[in-house]
Amino acid sequence: MREDTVTATGAVLRATESLVTARLESGVVRKNEEAAVRIGDLRLRAEVLRVRADTITLQVFEDTSGVQVGSPVEFTGRLLSATLGPGLLGRIYDGLQNPLRDIARIHGHALPRGSELPALDEARSWLFRAEVSEGQSVQSGARLGTVLEGHVSHCVLAPAAVGREAMVRRIVSGPVRLWDEVALLETPARAQISVPLGRRWPMRDPYGNAFFESGPASRLLPHEPLDTGMRVIDTFFPIARGGTACIPGPFGAGKTVLQSLIARHSVVDVVVIVACGERAGEVVETLAAFESLPDPRTGGRLMDRTVIVCNTSSMPVAARETSMHLGLTIGEYYRQMGLQVLMLADSTSRWAQALREISGLMEEIPGEEAYPPYLDSNIRSLYDRAGVLSTPEGAQGSLTLIGTVSPAGGSFEEPVTQATLGTVRCFLGLSADRAHRRAYPALDPLLSWSRYFDLLQPWFAEHAGLDWPDRVDAMMQRLRRGHEAADLMRVAGEDGVTLDDFAAWLGANLVDRVMLQQDAFDPVDASVPRQRQVVLLGLVEDALARCPAFPDRETAHRHFDRLESLLRNWNLSPDGSPDQARWRRELEETAGRATEPVPGGEGEAAPGPQ
Ligand code: ADP
Ligand code: MG
Repeated sequence: MREDTVTATGAVLRATESLVTARLESGVVRKNEEAAVRIGDLRLRAEVLRVRADTITLQVFEDTSGVQVGSPVEFTGRLLSATLGPGLLGRIYDGLQNPLRDIARIHGHALPRGSELPALDEARSWLFRAEVSEGQSVQSGARLGTVLEGHVSHCVLAPAAVGREAMVRRIVSGPVRLWDEVALLETPARAQISVPLGRRWPMRDPYGNAFFESGPASRLLPHEPLDTGMRVIDTFFPIARGGTACIPGPFGAGKTVLQSLIARHSVVDVVVIVACGERAGEVVETLAAFESLPDPRTGGRLMDRTVIVCNTSSMPVAARETSMHLGLTIGEYYRQMGLQVLMLADSTSRWAQALREISGLMEEIPGEEAYPPYLDSNIRSLYDRAGVLSTPEGAQGSLTLIGTVSPAGGSFEEPVTQATLGTVRCFLGLSADRAHRRAYPALDPLLSWSRYFDLLQPWFAEHAGLDWPDRVDAMMQRLRRGHEAADLMRVAGEDGVTLDDFAAWLGANLVDRVMLQQDAFDPVDASVPRQRQVVLLGLVEDALARCPAFPDRETAHRHFDRLESLLRNWNLSPDGSPDQARWRRELEETAGRATEPVPGGEGEAAPGPQ
């Protein structure tokens, strides 16, 4: 908190861990406003959670040792807010938007209690290019101008307060700092609105709502898929841009790895990663890896279009709860400019545990498994902040939200997983069994679902053919049929099932190995463009449709082994390469012809992976 105005004061009555109760002594206090509990000159940042007559309950974001009965409390009159502006990209913040790298540089590794650093560099100058001129009429959400932030054209928008119409009285062009005025607007009622380059926004209020209420910005239904480069997602369980998905899975199933693959390869402009409550060691490892990664889309660094909000399990639990809201506010801020934003939250379970802990301290009536009764609605309101909107200039921005869920013991029958399932429209369930077999990404195809096929149908019809959902569904049927055959075989043995069942099992394995599984370490296979996924589906369909009648199990086995080997080689060959053409040719030659068994020997040797 800056040394800004004090609008109310109080004195501490009680302090329990991060929770402080105070008696209001002067002024008026609002829920969710920012406050400070003082120990001498130390100011501990806090947020008002409950106001009951003159008794105020606050959560303190720092260690409260030393707080006494009578310690002074100062209220700021402003809601707990995020600082927004150019310079967010590439930053790593804690849940209160303290810049972690600056902290490390200035203070060593931990931020001393009671200190705060500006979230953005306030002295840096940015070249502002005006897009409106004096005398012009603008509406809320309209572009006033841009600065170049790395590869992103960062728009400065007319604030929501402008409403349907305001006149540009002044507009600058040239270098500006964060809090410099870039424009002065005047409403028909002659109210003057000064627009600086940066702005502050209450973290818990969706940034877009004010624009919807005041201007021509509007919400749209998601209608385009997010290209993640992961076959199992894009082809089988698509996520819409501006949509929601969750990745539940037991410990070690690959949630964090899957999220970083999605972060790395998805076709979006801005990525926000919220590392929430995971162990510090793991988080540091992920971040260190991330910082050095190249951006496959721009040739720059991945970090240049990424913002990371990081609140590890060793950091205060109250700030863990805010980290999600901070990430969402930053995501919404970029979406409002008409950009495609992806936010990944790892893990929402740890966030829910923070809610539970705070609710427990507040002695609220507990719901299931001691989570607060409002768990469901809080989870819903997080995911509700995803979506697509149109800007006054006709651009479309999106914020896609993908959260991991890490249920204790791995059972999905627990409140956080269940509440999340009731909210999101795409469920990517990871299975310990598949992870154990190293069938990565360990997504269980029989458990997972996507409810985006309907909304995306027009897009698929145009880009992948009218029958795309049916073709994907037919592949799913094969996977189910193969699973049933495997169950039978577990009971009756390989010889106890019909040759048809046996071939169905082999076919499902083929689909699994060449379509669902993907090699995160192979330069070609790690990320697959959608068009290539469409071609692959065609190749697999064709190979399966042309399977000959098999005289025996061994011939069937050999045939599918060969198909798998050819398709995997195709998967590893760059688009347009002679290798790719060769594997495809061999596949066409092989598909309809069962390899003759060689008496007493192996069949035709299949080429190994390159
Ligand atoms: P979780 O977050 O679910 O606890 P992680 O994402 O940390 O699990 O994954 C645990 C380990 O599994 C990783 O360290 C890695 O060795 C392996 N792993 C997970 N996903 C993949 C993948 N797609 N490819 C290769 N290895 C993987
Ligand atoms: Mg993890």
